[in-house]
Amino acid sequence: MSPWSKEIWRLASLLGLALIVGFLTGYLQVTVLLATAVYLLWHLYNINRLAKWLSKPGKFHPPPGQGIWAEIFDRIYHLQKQNRDRKKKLAKYINRFRESTAAMPDATVVLNHFDQIEWINKAAQENLGLQPSKDIGQHLSNLIRHPAFIRYLSRKDYETPLAMPSPADEQIQLSIRIIPYGKHQRLLIARDVTRLKHLEEMRRDFVSNISHELRTPLTVIHGFLESMQDESNSKMADWHENIDMMMRQSGRMQNIVNDLLMLSRLENETLKNNSRGEVPIPNILYSIKQEALAISGDKGHKIKLECDDELGLYGVQNELYSAFSNLVFNAVRYTPKGGEITLRWYQDDKGAHFEVRDTGIGIPPQHIPRLTERFFRVDVGRSREIGGTGLGLAIVKHILERHQAKLRIKSKINQGSTFICDFPAESIFVYSQQSVIKV
Ligand code: ADP
Repeated sequence: MSPWSKEIWRLASLLGLALIVGFLTGYLQVTVLLATAVYLLWHLYNINRLAKWLSKPGKFHPPPGQGIWAEIFDRIYHLQKQNRDRKKKLAKYINRFRESTAAMPDATVVLNHFDQIEWINKAAQENLGLQPSKDIGQHLSNLIRHPAFIRYLSRKDYETPLAMPSPADEQIQLSIRIIPYGKHQRLLIARDVTRLKHLEEMRRDFVSNISHELRTPLTVIHGFLESMQDESNSKMADWHENIDMMMRQSGRMQNIVNDLLMLSRLENETLKNNSRGEVPIPNILYSIKQEALAISGDKGHKIKLECDDELGLYGVQNELYSAFSNLVFNAVRYTPKGGEITLRWYQDDKGAHFEVRDTGIGIPPQHIPRLTERFFRVDVGRSREIGGTGLGLAIVKHILERHQAKLRIKSKINQGSTFICDFPAESIFVYSQQSVIKV
């Protein structure tokens, strides 16, 4: 029988007994009233025991009870036990998480919705200079005051990590990531990348030094070859073909060295605001078009330029010239005879765009994401044959990054390619139409 049925039986029996006694004694009302009062008092007594038991958090075992109250005490006891077990399990998980993150070499900080510190690990004390005893509960932006960090923290886009020196030691270089989780919480992870940065600097220096070292001997060799080529001496006649080949190869090497030097300059020098200026893009495009026609020569490409003559950019003129001309000359080189090349310079609500569309050989889709890697070529033989260095698009990418612009590439094999440079609206300035020089 269920406890509730038992309880109803108990009440029915009590009332039955009261009725019998009432009939026998002639005091029916009084005995029923008395029985009800006894029943009520018994419940009140048990409610009182329940309240006392619940008000003592340390007291786990329930008071002994009878009837329905034994069942109620028992159920509450089991619920509390389940709760305690769950809490213990959770505490164990949290401890395990804390132990593992505390042992992590990366600095870890748990932040709440208001950027206040909730928890830090040991590495955060060393790499970020935070103290658990006094910094928990503090706003992180009050403790790490590097402007780039404050900007990064307030931004909602954490896709790319932030590189900055450690607030505890300028010599330590950190790569900081923020990972949102749970309800408006964030996990900040700072990794010590000093060694990696050092290796990267060594690589850059090596490429830059070796390119500098090669430049002078190559210029000398090329110079001598030029004068040998001009030599009308009959003794040299048999050598002309070989000299031509040597000249072509030394010319290629010079191009590679120049492109490598340009790349390391773009990587090593940060773009200062005072080196930026108003760049008359239409003028640049008219002269690139003329150069492209000259390079095309008897391949007879149709080169069209659709240009917004009032649209200029804030930037570095020679860098933008180099990026745009690289894209246009590639279009000429990778488009067969008689093909069409269209250059467009326009603006819309997203910003300014330079587009180079050709009807050339196209690029297989799997190669498109790799085109801006150094020395990546779809067809190495073809690129070498037409004098390519494999560095042009890497240079374009770097220049665009320095101008907060992005490169988009669309292509279909044997139908042609489109390279689009997207500049943010902040880089635009309206250029006076009279100053455009159309060649
Ligand atoms: P390269 O000096 O070899 O042209 P780039 O970095 O300029 O080096 O270009 C990398 C590769 O991208 C090229 O080797 C070529 O395979 C491909 N490519 C670039 N532009 C075009 C284009 N307009 N049409 C087809 N392929 C292209």
